[in-house]
Amino acid sequence: MEIRRLSDALKEQFGQKVYKLSLSAGCTCPNRDGRIGTGGCTFCSEGGSGDFAAAFRPIEEQIEEARKRVDAKIPASIPMDQRKYIAYFQSFTSTYGDTERLRGIFSGAVDREEIAGLSIGTRPDCLEDDKVEMLRELNARKPVWVELGLQTIHQETAERIHRGYRLEVFEDTYQRLKEAGLTVIVHVILGLPGESREMMLETVRYLASLTPELDGIKLQLLHVLRGTALAEEYEKEPFELFTPESYCATVVDCLKLLPEHTVIHRMTGDGPRKLLIAPLWSTDKKRVLNMLNAAIRDAERT
Ligand code: SF4
Repeated sequence: MEIRRLSDALKEQFGQKVYKLSLSAGCTCPNRDGRIGTGGCTFCSEGGSGDFAAAFRPIEEQIEEARKRVDAKIPASIPMDQRKYIAYFQSFTSTYGDTERLRGIFSGAVDREEIAGLSIGTRPDCLEDDKVEMLRELNARKPVWVELGLQTIHQETAERIHRGYRLEVFEDTYQRLKEAGLTVIVHVILGLPGESREMMLETVRYLASLTPELDGIKLQLLHVLRGTALAEEYEKEPFELFTPESYCATVVDCLKLLPEHTVIHRMTGDGPRKLLIAPLWSTDKKRVLNMLNAAIRDAERT
């Protein structure tokens, strides 16, 4: 088994290290504003899966602020004018709403010299043809990645977590995005209630078999966050959660199923620590990453 990590893929694509800026396109979510639902996906916190992203302000201001935060962690030996960033629109559903308004925001980011590309997190049911066309145009200027929150291929789980769309919607959107030449990254949550390990592997197996081939994947550990419907469900009737060992073993089994070129964007969760109810072991990110890397090294040797 050999895996393609995001850091390596970024260096190959841009010839240098690239940093992510968490930004907001000021969108809501149809699964929260009533178009599809009002409660959102059961695992999603009030921040809309983008708890670290900035609140909406003019895009130039957001970029300046996000740069300050990120630059503080970059070694001073890298000159300011040589730093490159991905503008990451993470919170809520970043293609939901008026296409022209969004075009203005995304163009404001793409046109800046230090921005190497865009990454846009969204739902497959919020990518009508005019949105895909807008993304295709932006992609001709700088690389655009579209991140789709699929989480699972299983309809019974999709209903239980109130995802609000069927797998067919994902399939149709995936094809339209790929036909438009866009890079597609899919989010999968491992450990959703009611899912066996085999069901999780089925989701990954399905993604591995997509044609055209999937560009990237984010594997995320399910986090039970305070204030969510999932937290209520968990407190009423706790469902089984991963241990660090079982999580690492499952991630390795998922990685084994993926084609070698699929870029692994994430292998752990990235939830807000102060809202986390369970599993608490996941707050020790360093330990989890060390365990994961050891499990991957073992698998790579075999
Ligand atoms: S689609 Fe995304 S933003 Fe909307 S409720 Fe679900 S996880 Fe949250």
